[in-house]
Parts: sequence; structure tokens; C-alpha cells
Amino acid sequence: LISVRGVSKLFGDFAALKDIDLDIHRGEVVALIGASGSGKSTLCRCINRLETVSDGVITVDGRPLPEEGRELARLRSEVGMVFQSFNLFPHLRAVENVTLGPMKVRGVPKAEARAEAMELLARVGLQGKEHSLPAQLSGGQQQRVAIARALAMHPKAMLFDEPTSALDPEVIKEVLDVMTELAEAGMTMLVVTHEMGFARHVCDRVVFMDSGEIVESAEPEAFFTAPRSQRAKDFLGKVL
Ligand code: ATP
Ligand code: MG
Repeated sequence: LISVRGVSKLFGDFAALKDIDLDIHRGEVVALIGASGSGKSTLCRCINRLETVSDGVITVDGRPLPEEGRELARLRSEVGMVFQSFNLFPHLRAVENVTLGPMKVRGVPKAEARAEAMELLARVGLQGKEHSLPAQLSGGQQQRVAIARALAMHPKAMLFDEPTSALDPEVIKEVLDVMTELAEAGMTMLVVTHEMGFARHVCDRVVFMDSGEIVESAEPEAFFTAPRSQRAKDFLGKVL
């Protein structure tokens, strides 16, 4: 569904991504892990075209990423992204945060968008919070609104960039539970995470990056019990 071929990304003369090849198949859940600065966020941002690549090609559903305009807006709705900072509109209530995209980008009528938003908020466990402002919600609740907002665009795939890193330990699980349900429902997902339990038990594959390169791509059990590279061994030694 998502194909990354020979992608490099330069910031000045610093190579944040070096000749990356990655395929994410329909329904696959891939954990992207690696040390700080290894290029995980940059890769996600290139897939959603928040950054342009310096070299190589990325396709979604067989189509190269559009340059701009309406096509780019459509790509952004097809590939939902959830960030560490929830990026909700602070002056809009939960339900309004979820309905805005469908109304503006997909042209869904208000009543329909609202009905679906209420369903999605219930799905992420936020019944009763539909009319709260972001500031009235916990971090975990805000992140679940952000997930509902992305789902409201009917994405083909979802990118998560450290969705639980800004959260208190006691609410991390409620966000991971929602992501686990999504994975089980067959959503195609790329998840940058430091939650090794999630990577190991929920994901189909682990991709390990270091210094802008993909060093290993393996089944979680194999990766965590017997990483092939020294760089992965060193990384796991620090995080496990
Ligand atoms: P973390 O785990 O800390 O989030 P990461 O793996 O997501 O790290 P990236 O944010 O992708 O890492 O950054 C990769 C490298 O690219 C870093 O060295 C970073 O400093 C550099 N970089 C990222 N964005 C820019 C930018 N806009 N301008 C210059 N350098 C950048
Ligand atoms: Mg990052």
C-alpha cells in the first residue's frame, strides 16, 4: 500500500534519510524504532509529504505523492497522521475537531459528519466527552480525539509518530488499547514508538533505523530475541 524506494532526505548537507526502501502492505502493522535522531519522524513526514524527499520515490496505493493542492489534501486524508503533540484545534470541542476535516475536505454534510464523529468518539472510549474542549481533556483523551479525527477521514493507512510519548504513564495504555483495536480491525499502520511491548505483541514487523538507515526489518519475536546487527543489539540493550 505504501512503497518507499531509494529515498534520501538532506537537510543542508546532513543526510537524515539514506537510501530508504520500505514496503508496507495492506493490513500490515509496522513498528518503526530506533534511537533519537535516527530519522523516524522524518520518514513519517516524507510519507505524508510534510517534507519533500531529496531523492527516490514514495507511492501510496501505486500513485506517487502529489505535489500540491487538492490532490495533496486527498493524500493527507488517505494517510492519517497522529503526532506526539495532539495538535487539536484548542477552540473547538471534541466533536467539532472530528467533523471539521470530513466537512471541509470530503464535503460530507454536517449532520452526517456529526453522526459519524459521535460514533468514532464512542469507538475510542470518549462517550460523554464529545462537547469538551481540548483543555478540559486529559492527554490520553486528547490523543484519542486526534485518532478519531484521523479516522473520520476514512484513511487507507495511519502513521503514528510517538503517540504516547507525551502522556502520563497511567493514560498510555488507553491510547495503546485504541491502537491495538485498530490494528486488529485490519488498519494499515506505521507506528513510531518507544513502547517495546506494543512493537513486540501488536505489530507484524519491526523496522529498526539508525543514522538515517534501515538496519533491520524483521518479525518482532525474531528481532527482540535475536537481533542480527550489533547496532540493534546495542539499542535493545538500552531500551529493554
Ligand atoms: P526522535 O526519536 O528524537 O523523535 P527521530 O528518529 O524522529 O528522533 P528525526 O526527527 O527524523 O529523528 O531527525 C533525524 C535527523 O534529522 C536529526 O539529526 C535531526 O536533527 C535532523 N532534522 C530533522 N528535521 C530537520 C530540519 N527541519 N532541519 C534540519 N535538520 C533536521
Ligand atoms: Mg521523532
